[in-house]
Amino acid sequence: MPCLFCKIVAGEIPSKKIFEDELAYAFRDINPQAPTHVLIVPRKHIASLAETGVEDQALLGHLHLVAARIAGSEGLAKGFRTVINTGADGGQTVDHLHVHLLGGRPMSWPPG
Ligand code: AMP
Ligand code: ZN
Repeated sequence: MPCLFCKIVAGEIPSKKIFEDELAYAFRDINPQAPTHVLIVPRKHIASLAETGVEDQALLGHLHLVAARIAGSEGLAKGFRTVINTGADGGQTVDHLHVHLLGGRPMSWPPG
C-alpha cells in the first residue's frame, strides 16, 4: 500500500508542486508553519533518515541542493531553515523521508 507522499509523487493525490526532477518532488505543505513551507521528498520511498544507507548519499545531498534552489526561487534571501523530523521523538508524522524548507519569517532556537 503506497504511502501518502508516494501517492503525491505519483499524482494520485493533488499537491501544489514547486519543483520536480528525476530524483525529487517538492510541494507546498498543506499546513504551513511559515510564509514559505515546502516539502522536498525523494521519488524513491525511504521511510525516514534512519532508514538511509550509503547508497542514498548522493540523493540526500540532492534533496538539500533542491531545497537551496527553491529557497532562491522563493526569495528567501534573508535566510531559511531546513528540517528533517525522524521517528516519534523527532516529530515525524509521515513515514516517507522529507526535508522541510521554512522561510519568510525569523526562526527561533531551540526548536520545540
Ligand atoms: P512531519 O511531521 O515532519 O512528518 O511532516 C509531515 C508534513 O506533511 C506536515 O508538515 C504536514 O502538514 C504535511 N502534510 C500532510 N499531508 C499533506 C498533504 N496532503 N499535502 C501536503 N502536505 C501534507
Ligand atoms: Zn512513500
